[in-house]
Amino acid sequence: MDYTATPDLLKERIILVTGAGDGIGRAAAKSFAAHGATVILLGRTIRKLEFVYDEIIQANHPKPAIYPMNLEGASPKDYEDLAEIIYKEFGRLDGLLHNASMLGKLTPLEHYDINQWYQVLQVNLNAPYMLTRACLGLLKQSSDASIVFTSSNVGRKGRAYWGAYAVSKFAQEGLMQVLADELEQNTSIRVNSLNPGKTRTKMRSDAYPGENPNTLPAPDEIMNIYLYLMGADSRSVHGQALDAQPMV
Ligand code: NDP
Repeated sequence: MDYTATPDLLKERIILVTGAGDGIGRAAAKSFAAHGATVILLGRTIRKLEFVYDEIIQANHPKPAIYPMNLEGASPKDYEDLAEIIYKEFGRLDGLLHNASMLGKLTPLEHYDINQWYQVLQVNLNAPYMLTRACLGLLKQSSDASIVFTSSNVGRKGRAYWGAYAVSKFAQEGLMQVLADELEQNTSIRVNSLNPGKTRTKMRSDAYPGENPNTLPAPDEIMNIYLYLMGADSRSVHGQALDAQPMV
């Protein structure tokens, strides 16, 4: 994307990133912090979150917060508790990046493990819904809040063997559209979905073990559009399905 973020683009913004301990979420958290945001690092592996926390502190960026949470087992009450803590600590939320997700096993629908079906939809669809629902009051306290759902090529066009993962990404697109329509009139919250495209992460190598990772961009290289969507420059962008890289 042809966009250059100003160094203080996200100054004084409070942004929650799910799956902030690894891959694209880690790069996004660091990038948001580098542009002035206070980032709430949500994820399930504390050691990874602490590592990202240390990286941000060592770079002299605003002190982040860590919120360990396993999206697979989290209840609606857990999301309400999180929102309550954010309210007490910060009073509002300016950005919410739904980045965490699980791939599940790539297999024909006929043989898809039912428990894994539930598991993938819980992490990739129900969790972002419950988290959004709990955070709407906080997002309304911001003068211009941004919600970004993370999609995928297989969330835009179905592909054999991608099972619950593909279905969950299609559903996130639907969730984004319904929410965008509901929030259009009376709020200053914008809602969009973003497909990062092929990116050099663990999830990508799990899905394509035979691929040479060095042929893919690193998460850091696709951060422009993430910054754009979290900053005020994207104020008028609402209800759109966007791509970080050209679709191939
Ligand atoms: P990674 O597997 O590298 O990172 C996923 C992150 O989500 C990890 O931090 C992981 O935590 C976290 N996570 C997974 N399950 C849970 C859970 N139950 N509770 C809390 N956190 C959880 O993936 P990517 O960085 O590649 O993916 C980021 C997003 O981009 C995903 O939504 C993915 O679908 C999407 N995407 C990625 C593409 C790519 O090529 N990489 C292409 C298209 C879309 P932990 O580290 O503890 O496992």
